[in-house]
Amino acid sequence: MNNKRTIGVLTSGGDAPGMNAAVRAVVRSGIYYGFNVIGIRKGYEGLLNGDMEEMNVRSVGDLIHRGGTILQTARSSEFNTDAGVEKGITMAKVFGIDALVVIGGDGSFRGAKDLSNKGFPTMCIPATIDNDIASTEYTIGFDTALNTVQDAIDKIRDTAYSHERCSVLEVMGRKAGYIAINVAISGGAEAVILPEKKFDIDVDIIKPIMDGRNRGKKHYLVVIAEGVGGAVEIAEYIEKKTDVKTRATILGHIQRGGSPTVYDRVTASRMGAHAVKLLKDGHKDRVVSMQQGLITDFDINEALLMKKTIDKEMIEINKILAL
Ligand code: ATP
Repeated sequence: MNNKRTIGVLTSGGDAPGMNAAVRAVVRSGIYYGFNVIGIRKGYEGLLNGDMEEMNVRSVGDLIHRGGTILQTARSSEFNTDAGVEKGITMAKVFGIDALVVIGGDGSFRGAKDLSNKGFPTMCIPATIDNDIASTEYTIGFDTALNTVQDAIDKIRDTAYSHERCSVLEVMGRKAGYIAINVAISGGAEAVILPEKKFDIDVDIIKPIMDGRNRGKKHYLVVIAEGVGGAVEIAEYIEKKTDVKTRATILGHIQRGGSPTVYDRVTASRMGAHAVKLLKDGHKDRVVSMQQGLITDFDINEALLMKKTIDKEMIEINKILAL
């Protein structure tokens, strides 16, 4: 008779670079602490379909540097229902899973909360390029996505300078402008438009471009968060109003891919190990989080009630430095 406890691990929602490093950390710390570890493919969909297999230390070899997620990810509408959650618990029990580690964004955590509130133990690890989970100052994948966008900005800047153009760049972030504000600062944007803040195109975009031109600027960068959208229309409006040749670039899914940065690999490793240590110590239903650079954790119900806002100082800094 095998008395070992078994952890299930899945990745859910949008993929993020560093998810693999988190899976590796969960599998290896799990085995280190004496758990069996089962990898569940395609998020909650795989849990409902019994699409899973036991993992060992070698299953996660040659993995830490790879983007995407070997467990694959999915969005499951069935799991969004009460019956779906009940079925998930039944399937977990059929496969002998005692606790589930969910690596994903806040939607995925809501699914975990439903499991927890029905008595099935969970642990959540924040991984989304958007950095929009309130209980943590950092989510796995954010740093890699920022660097991918920055690389694109540097390339766009070269051609924008050569042609004295304005570039309008749409970056990911449906409800949150963390990517947008950070790359606006790191890329020296004249203007940044965030989903969190109402904007006036003449005041917030046209005026800084005109002011810049009067000060001798040769090219311009406007960053738009996906949640605001309309990059092509905004580019047309800028060209019409200012006579500066303007091109829109929508970066899209390139922002999700790529080998994770050192920071994402290390953070994923720390968070994955922390999640498993919590289970080993008898805790459950926690969201692993980072606060002031330290790895900590919060009760899942409390974590999902927290709110997060963009630091106003960052918006101010971007305005000052765009002079
Ligand atoms: P990202 O931030 O990258 O989009 P996410 O984890 O927020 O990631 P979602 O699509 O919101 O992505 O959620 C992933 C999955 O979690 C959903 O497809 C669904 O199966 C499950 N889920 C979301 N919300 C709930 C909920 N309230 N109850 C149960 N399950 C949920």
